[in-house]
Amino acid sequence: MVKLVEAPEGLEGQGFFATSLDKVIGMARANSLWPLPFATSCCGIEFMATMASNYDLARFGSERLSFSPRQADLLMVMGTIAKKMGPVLKQVYDQMAEPKWVISVGACASSGGIFDTYSVLQGIDRIIPVDVYVPGCPPRPEQIIEGVLKIQELARNESLRRRNSDEYKKMLESYHIQTS
Ligand code: SF4
Repeated sequence: MVKLVEAPEGLEGQGFFATSLDKVIGMARANSLWPLPFATSCCGIEFMATMASNYDLARFGSERLSFSPRQADLLMVMGTIAKKMGPVLKQVYDQMAEPKWVISVGACASSGGIFDTYSVLQGIDRIIPVDVYVPGCPPRPEQIIEGVLKIQELARNESLRRRNSDEYKKMLESYHIQTS
């Protein structure tokens, strides 16, 4: 059975349905997120399970993985990020076009996890902004799906003006990320 996505709030009558542009674009974005899996270690294996038939992330419109930042809007960071890897991660984030979202999957990506050591980045939010954190070592696929659903919620309800707002630009500047 094909399950259709729920229509956004609007005015409905015989032969017409009216809503705002924000809501239609939010609905389209939320249900067609293209993830870029930045997987460096064990949490990446959980993501593979999340994509496979049992959990099937495709049910949420995210089956199209992208290994090119320019064709992705959801950066999923999964695994231990060594400090040497930091600039690479930041470059990948920079190369993604707006609007873009970031999920930090697992303890390592979120805080360095058990690797409280000189060579490991103690959380990716030291170099790029993060929208959703998924706890666990490793998180189960259900938790990763929950993270994607949270991003869908953000995308669905985001104002079209947010990315041009001073607040958003200031946040990027605080990460030394250039804004156009
Ligand atoms: S959080 Fe745990 S499972 Fe995930 S990459 Fe780190 S050590 Fe591996």
